[in-house]
Amino acid sequence: MNVPLAPAPPITGPLTVKGTAVSLRGIHKSFGAHAALRGVSLDVLPGEFVALLGPSGCGKTTLLRALSGLDRIDDGAVSIDGVDVSRVPVEKRDMGMVFQSYSLFPHLTAAQNVEFGLRMRKVDAARRTARVQEALDMVGLGDRGGRYAHELSGGQQQRVALARALVTRPRVLLLDEPLSALDAKVRVKLREQIRRIQRDLGITTVFVTHDQEEALAVADRVAVMNEGVIEQIGTPEDLYRRPVSPFVADFVGLSNVLDGVAHGGGVEVCGHVLPVLGAPVEGSVQAFVRPEDIVFTDGAGGVDATVVASSFLGSLRRTVVRASDGTLLAVQHDASDRREPDDAVRFRFAGHPVAVRPR
Ligand code: ATP
Repeated sequence: MNVPLAPAPPITGPLTVKGTAVSLRGIHKSFGAHAALRGVSLDVLPGEFVALLGPSGCGKTTLLRALSGLDRIDDGAVSIDGVDVSRVPVEKRDMGMVFQSYSLFPHLTAAQNVEFGLRMRKVDAARRTARVQEALDMVGLGDRGGRYAHELSGGQQQRVALARALVTRPRVLLLDEPLSALDAKVRVKLREQIRRIQRDLGITTVFVTHDQEEALAVADRVAVMNEGVIEQIGTPEDLYRRPVSPFVADFVGLSNVLDGVAHGGGVEVCGHVLPVLGAPVEGSVQAFVRPEDIVFTDGAGGVDATVVASSFLGSLRRTVVRASDGTLLAVQHDASDRREPDDAVRFRFAGHPVAVRPR
């Protein structure tokens, strides 16, 4: 049943919004013969920041567009605070959006871009001016309101786009790869700023990215998508430590993919048995072992190996070794522990449970 949404909160007062619950149930969407979403369900809690993460073409943008109302869905339901909005058009769903391309109107100043949505809503001039200033201050551009897009850096343009999305105080903020056109340093700075603003406002946020580091760094929970379904949703720690599938283990973080033999809840790799995550598997498998779960040791019982290469990565170092049985493994360790090619070393496994898939 389609019942009308409660009226949007008045756009006077402070920018802070009350968190809104978002629910997607059994969403299907096809483009011709291609099923882009195959029965996706997702609940986003009020004030939560959820990242949709997955490889190119897995359906992230399609899911975000289904949520926003930009695209019609073939089947399923979208609800906001318990109200089915599946047939409510995009402009009535009350969602703020920021896309990958900066998408500012080039003939308007930053302030006029931010003001645009308030004009559309017929907010009076004095209130518009105050709210535009508040929104620009929030993104740290309070003194750049008079600039045109071409007079702003990429990062500044995205901050204006964020202010424009938030100035009307939407119920939900949708971000589709908003950082991907920016250079690495600006990306990190801006993602932190987005997260701080999101927390301050308490606005429910869905953020699309294919960058796992970005997703793990900012989101309360991350939904890992693959071929039109959500493979796993969980906190960054859950996904990293307790992946429910080899796909998640492989996609989130770095793993050594090692040949092994599984038996009785364990898997033997390089002559050592490691506990297996999830349902027990038997026979030949590939095991996903994190580089930081392999530790250099001087003690007995380790695996003898030779260093192949070692890279300095700032606070840590990644060293590739060849075990005595020929297996190549990446080991992550403290940068002060310097290793050189051809050094004889010994390693052991930390013993954390590992994901496996049949070979
Ligand atoms: P990326 O990270 O590359 O943006 P994505 O995970 O966001 O990928 P989607 O854009 O959701 O992926 O696309 C999912 C699938 O649906 C892809 O195979 C894509 O080619 C297809 N698709 C998306 N939009 C359309 C469209 N308008 N017409 C036809 N096929 C489409």
